[in-house]
Order: sequence, then C-alpha cells, then structure tokens
Amino acid sequence: MHWLNLASRLPCTKAEGPGRRAALWVQGCDKRCSGCCNPAYLQMVERDLVSTSSVLDWLADAHHEHDLEGVTFLGGEPMLQAQGLADIAQGARMLGLSVMVFSGYTKGELEFLELPGSMQLLHYTDVLVDGPYDSNLPEHGRRWVGSTNQQFHYLTGRYDSRIESYGEVERVLEIRLRTDGLVFINGWPEKVVR
Ligand code: SF4
Repeated sequence: MHWLNLASRLPCTKAEGPGRRAALWVQGCDKRCSGCCNPAYLQMVERDLVSTSSVLDWLADAHHEHDLEGVTFLGGEPMLQAQGLADIAQGARMLGLSVMVFSGYTKGELEFLELPGSMQLLHYTDVLVDGPYDSNLPEHGRRWVGSTNQQFHYLTGRYDSRIESYGEVERVLEIRLRTDGLVFINGWPEKVVR
C-alpha cells in the first residue's frame, strides 16, 4: 500500500476522457507552464493525504454507483506520485475500468527518467496524454488536450485515435456547486464565462 497526496477527486465526470470516469487530481507539479489551468495544484504542499486502499474502496463505490468506463489521473503531475497511482491503476483494471493519464512529461522523458513507479503506472495505463501545456500552440481539433504538442499514446488495444475527435469535437465543461459552498470547475476552461 502507498499514500497519495490528492488535490481533488470526482466520482463521475464526462469531461476528463472517454465515457463516464472517476477523476483523481494529485497535488504538486515541478513544471510551471504559462497558462496552466490548475495553478492551485502545482505547489508541493500537503493537501488530502490518503491511502491507496481507501482510494480503491472509493473507486469501487463510484463504479457501483455510476457504472464507470474508467478512471483518469491528472494534476499536478501524476508521474510524481506514480507508485500510489500504479496501485490505483492496477485495481481499476481489476474492476474492468480503463486508465487514462495526463502527464507534463513526454513519454520519452518518462522512459529516460524512470521516476519511481512510473513504468508500473504505464504498464496499467490504456491512454497516456503527454507533454507540457504550451500556450503558443493552442489545440482546436482534439478533445481533452490544450496544445498541439501534447500527444496521445495508446498503450493497449482498448482505445485508438478515434476517441480524440469522436463525432464532433466537443469541449465539455462541468461546474459543480459543492455543499461546502465552493464552486468546482473541471473540463475545458476556455468556456468559462466570467
Ligand atoms: S505540466 Fe500540467 S499541471 Fe504541470 S504546470 Fe504544466 S500544465 Fe500545469
């Protein structure tokens, strides 16, 4: 069992990958991409420290309640907490869920750096979306990615490139009013109307 430092999580979203998915945002990223849509998740500070076994219980409950297709890991930088996320990805596979990971590292960097747990996490990953956000290269043609340098890598046969532009390219934005009075926004932030 490992520990995760989560910034946030959702039991069911349609804005972070194909189908209904649970989403886990980890806290902490060592990159500082200009225009990052989650600046509050970058600092290496303690947020919600949770055991992977408790997250797996939560994921199983979410799947039971929402009939999920998969789980998505975002950040922050998932590869900096890859040991814990590999546990979650392995458990997700056992539940029949697909695994999607958004990383600011390129696949080549990950293979070179071999961050702790990263190869294990990739072993259980169906889709890796890699590379840092580059505000000079805005993406208009594919779902879920912010800039054209970011690439989809299909590491299993579960998905292929059709998911990137399934039907019309739709950019989904979700807004939740939480019971603690906070507003939680995820998905495609370009659509936020101030
Ligand atoms: S890698 Fe991702 S989370 Fe990290 S600063 Fe860049 S856009 Fe933000």
